[in-house]
Amino acid sequence: MNNFGYLRAGAVAEAVQAGTTPQVRYLAGGTNLLDLMKYGVEQPVALVDLNRLPLRTIEEHAGGLRLGALATNAETAYDARVAARYPLLASTILAGASAQLRNAATNGGNLNQRTRCVYFYDAAAACNKRVPGSGCAALGGLNRGHAILGTSAQCIATYPGDMAVALAVLEARVRVAGPNGERVIALADYHRLPGDEPWRDNTLQPGELVTAIDLPAEDFTQHYTYLKLRDRLSYAFALVSVAVVMRLEDDGSIAEARIALGGVAHKPWRVPAAEALLRGQRPAPEAFGAAASRLLAGAVGQGGNDFKMELAHRAIVRACQQAAAGTPQSQTDKHIQ
Ligand code: SF4
Repeated sequence: MNNFGYLRAGAVAEAVQAGTTPQVRYLAGGTNLLDLMKYGVEQPVALVDLNRLPLRTIEEHAGGLRLGALATNAETAYDARVAARYPLLASTILAGASAQLRNAATNGGNLNQRTRCVYFYDAAAACNKRVPGSGCAALGGLNRGHAILGTSAQCIATYPGDMAVALAVLEARVRVAGPNGERVIALADYHRLPGDEPWRDNTLQPGELVTAIDLPAEDFTQHYTYLKLRDRLSYAFALVSVAVVMRLEDDGSIAEARIALGGVAHKPWRVPAAEALLRGQRPAPEAFGAAASRLLAGAVGQGGNDFKMELAHRAIVRACQQAAAGTPQSQTDKHIQ
């Protein structure tokens, strides 16, 4: 590991000022950043430690909840208000990582975690995300876990997180502080597709720092599910995951459905046109299958991950059925309902 400087920030403004220097990185839980430093992928000139900043509270805000960026994943998932009003989010967080990691990992860090593409972590491999212009070893290489949607000729990596998939259907908003003040980014606009700049995971500008995640007042406590399919039943990233929230009319037809996919793209994947297909429909496999086909339109396999297209289609139908029936996926017994 290279030598690096260290600053313990006492105020958000102090952190932002220090964070505008190139190759300075913000440190919160460190559960991804420190690994990246050990692999030599990240070689910061300095770390700005955020852990003394007053960003750890979870509080009522505008009818919803404001999740502090430094609240840990465990604190968030087990917060009684989150569990009661946003059970999808609690369930989704508990599907991620391990208990030990969730005790350390923060909400802000979870949003900003980087891809787990093996070539990104291998300093000897070609990787446009790590070294722009060096190529992409995953194209024609080991790409079983890679993206099938929104890829580019530069990069086929996936965004690895779970929490953001739930936040996508809840339509959360990300609050950031930066050199030009504060701004709010819709979750849908927070992560980005690789395009010609695969080294940019999200739309943060230099020096910007996540301070909170705002959950809207609208919650979904009856019809929701997070279905995560992976190689191991815990401590594994999603091959495909599906977050669904739904609202049903009194006659049982679908008033509103929102669906987001994880493990298939460089960002949580939502297609409003697919969700619109379900409005007014009876909750039935045929309708969910049509929505799944629309969600996956344009999907392209890379060889090793071709199976994801069929897996994703089936997972979408299954997750929609669970949400409509009010039988959310359990993250503790791990059996698919
Ligand atoms: Fe790098 Fe992206 Fe290619 Fe993986 S998929 S090797 S992260 S450029």
